[in-house]
Amino acid sequence: MASNFVDVARIVIKAGKGGDGAVSFHREKFVAAGGPDGGDGGRGGNVVFVADDNLSTLMDFRYKRKYAAAPGENGSGSRCTGKNAPDLVIRVPRGTVIRDAASGLVMADISGDEPVVVARGGKGGWGNTHFASPTRQIPRFAKPGLPGEEFEVRLELKLIADVGLIGFPNVGKSTLISAISAAKPKIANYHFTTLTPVLGVVRVGPEASFVAADIPGLIEGASEGVGLGHDFLRHVERCRLLLHVVDVSGCEGRDPKEDFERINQELVNFSAELAQRPQIVLGNKCDIATPEQVAEFRAYIEGQGLVFLPISAATRQGLDGLPGLVYGRLKDLPPVQVYEPEFVRDTTPADPRAFTVEQEDEHVWRVDAPWLERILEGSDVEDYESLQYFQRQLGESGVLDELVRRGVQEDDTIKIGEFEFDYVF
Ligand code: GDP
Ligand code: MG
Repeated sequence: MASNFVDVARIVIKAGKGGDGAVSFHREKFVAAGGPDGGDGGRGGNVVFVADDNLSTLMDFRYKRKYAAAPGENGSGSRCTGKNAPDLVIRVPRGTVIRDAASGLVMADISGDEPVVVARGGKGGWGNTHFASPTRQIPRFAKPGLPGEEFEVRLELKLIADVGLIGFPNVGKSTLISAISAAKPKIANYHFTTLTPVLGVVRVGPEASFVAADIPGLIEGASEGVGLGHDFLRHVERCRLLLHVVDVSGCEGRDPKEDFERINQELVNFSAELAQRPQIVLGNKCDIATPEQVAEFRAYIEGQGLVFLPISAATRQGLDGLPGLVYGRLKDLPPVQVYEPEFVRDTTPADPRAFTVEQEDEHVWRVDAPWLERILEGSDVEDYESLQYFQRQLGESGVLDELVRRGVQEDDTIKIGEFEFDYVF
């Protein structure tokens, strides 16, 4: 079933890394050595989502799957703080729900006007000015910026409509929405003519209106993913009220009662919550149905305590009262559903001082810890205070304990990136 309508996508979003702090010293002509003046790194860019009413599908995300915000600028001398990186703004159709792909939990519902930060940029690292103290006047080290958040996310478009039209293919849903709104979906006498959901604004009075959604017809087994339907039920999930359209004439050789029950079963299979959504039942094609057919179906529906309205979408018979009836009902119903964020960020973010220790040879150990390499690159290893700072990092991060636990011996070689040391107690 070829369709240009793309309403789900999976992408990777990556916020920017924070800029590194600078190691720098104040210099002036004729002044031998000034104090530390290395500035802090700037913040990495966030990844932000915002609703764009000019978009109606998630098509663009089929072609571009990775979105990365820029890193913050590194700090520099003269206490210059690096610039914060700009946010990366991703525009999506209104009603796009963003879920963490791994857990399936909702991260954000882009149905309002506010931009939402979904992945946060990393903080910039401190420049060496922060590390000056009376006993340490020449700090030759600074802090690297923190990494930005990265997520694989699933985007799902869930249309925002007050009312959803449901029913078997060919019962007249598209004819109905074009009769009561300005929407012009394709209408044809074969199944599955509607391949993309269509929204229509239904005017009730000068100040009053509601939005109706025509979704592709449901077929039996749709909720198990057989054929069309299952995916599209997502588009009526936010709806406050369902208009269940049934062909009372049975002109295609089907039984209206059976159709009605089968569609309701599809709703149950899709979501118990959706099956509980209030319904108004529209008996369509009354122009070609017998009065007995209409009366029998009406008794059946009203017998279940539901509101029944006989109509003919094609001849507009019975449609005059429909907008008012729906509007009156909507007034007592809760607003269109907005999905609350469920995703909870790990408050203990990936250990910024994570490391691994590997024994390369009897007396050679490799410590893999990029953060430590960056400290080393930014320090003067001949400098006593820098070395002290470095050693304290080795101690506090647990690298030394791990080496001891693994049996490191005096004078063993420790390799960290490009650097090599002898282990001395
Ligand atoms: P959908 O698949 O539910 O959207 O159905 P459509 O709106 O595409 O209509 C399917 C067929 O039924 C088309 O040929 C319509 O002209 C026809 N139809 C729709 N409403 C009526 C009606 O009230 N009376 C009659 N006689 N035909 C109708
Ligand atoms: Mg249709």
